[in-house]
Amino acid sequence: MISFQKAKSIINEHMFELSKETVPLDESIGRVLADNLVAPFSSPRFDNSAMDGFAVCSSDTLRASKKIPIELKMVGISSAGSPYHSKIKSRECVQCMTGAIIPEGADSVVMVEDTSGFSDSKIVKVMIETYPGKHIRMKGEEVNKGDILINRGTTITTNELGVFATFGYGKLNVSKRPKISIFGTGDELVDPGQKLKEGQIYNSNLYVFSDLTEKAGAEVINRDVIKDDETSLKLFLKEALLHSDVIISSGGVSMGRYDYVRKVFIELGVKEHFWKVAQKPGKPLFFGTKDNKLIFGLPGNPVSSFIGYMEWVWPVLKHMLGEQQKNNLIGVLDQPFPLEKAKHRFLFGKVKNKNGKLICSPTNLVGSHMLSSALDANCILNSSPGTGSLDVGKTINFNLLPWKTIE
Ligand code: AMP
Ligand code: MG
Repeated sequence: MISFQKAKSIINEHMFELSKETVPLDESIGRVLADNLVAPFSSPRFDNSAMDGFAVCSSDTLRASKKIPIELKMVGISSAGSPYHSKIKSRECVQCMTGAIIPEGADSVVMVEDTSGFSDSKIVKVMIETYPGKHIRMKGEEVNKGDILINRGTTITTNELGVFATFGYGKLNVSKRPKISIFGTGDELVDPGQKLKEGQIYNSNLYVFSDLTEKAGAEVINRDVIKDDETSLKLFLKEALLHSDVIISSGGVSMGRYDYVRKVFIELGVKEHFWKVAQKPGKPLFFGTKDNKLIFGLPGNPVSSFIGYMEWVWPVLKHMLGEQQKNNLIGVLDQPFPLEKAKHRFLFGKVKNKNGKLICSPTNLVGSHMLSSALDANCILNSSPGTGSLDVGKTINFNLLPWKTIE
């Protein structure tokens, strides 16, 4: 059995980033940006009007008011997409719509509401004094050409998507999605929706694994429940080893008489790096590699499987995707947290924000078979070994479940 820290460092030695691929903009949501996104041009691209109005020389409007408007000669129209191409002179103006290029010679825009309005008349009355730059969106005021807009490693959401489109990116380089095979083992397992016979239970782990894999940004390419026999296991694993970047199993990796997973992994040429970790739940944890494929054997108890995936597999998938990890938070206990003398202890928990303090409550359903302990949880609390328990008021480490928030 190895320590939690040793297991982490072994895994860190073996994980790697996957290469990148190009996807169309429309298919980029949820993917991880593989290159820094640089602005190919300044934004705005040109000085343009922030209002529908008239482009003027501001010095012509000195002391203009409703009572004593000044009159300008209207010489043309600049609309979004159709610029006015000549230079305007003093005492001239151009109708200038929102987003339209400011004509050369003009240094300000007067809103149409402060004029005699748009008409075919060649004379426009301006009823307000303006100043240089008023209602003009200046070239480069938002972003300069060459600026980094979005860092590599960012997961693409609606927020990023609009910016990609703004800067004309029709396709993007993103990290390849890791290809994952997941399987559960156990003669007792039946899929939900079917009838249970004596001694049978429903398979829940593969539903959890599938969803976590998708949530992490990876892709499930194989999924199966396998009987506790070596032949079926070998058949599935041979195929999985051909096409997967990561293989994740649940169950059959402990000391039971029919626990063949580890044996079969090794027989198929997987190099074992460790098999047992000083942690609760989830002590029997197999980690191996074959070529550049990573293999995780998680124990079957549903809480061990779920927590094991989040603690051991999730960060590896994120690393493969090149994504920045932001977790490892600290809160204060409002209930005691039971410690293990020689094991790292994990429990589902609830973290709340009380007056700016993160207050953590561990679940009181502490059995590794009690998956309803996940129901009210938004985090996984964890502590290194110790005697007794961590008392109320002590600090505790936790990882927020990435799809949950803190109320
Ligand atoms: P094992 O690690 O195979 O000894 O399994 C430990 C416990 O987890 C046993 O009670 C199994 O019935 C249960 N178990 C194994 N696989 C699953 C699964 N896919 N879904 C729910 N429970 C499971
Ligand atoms: Mg089993």
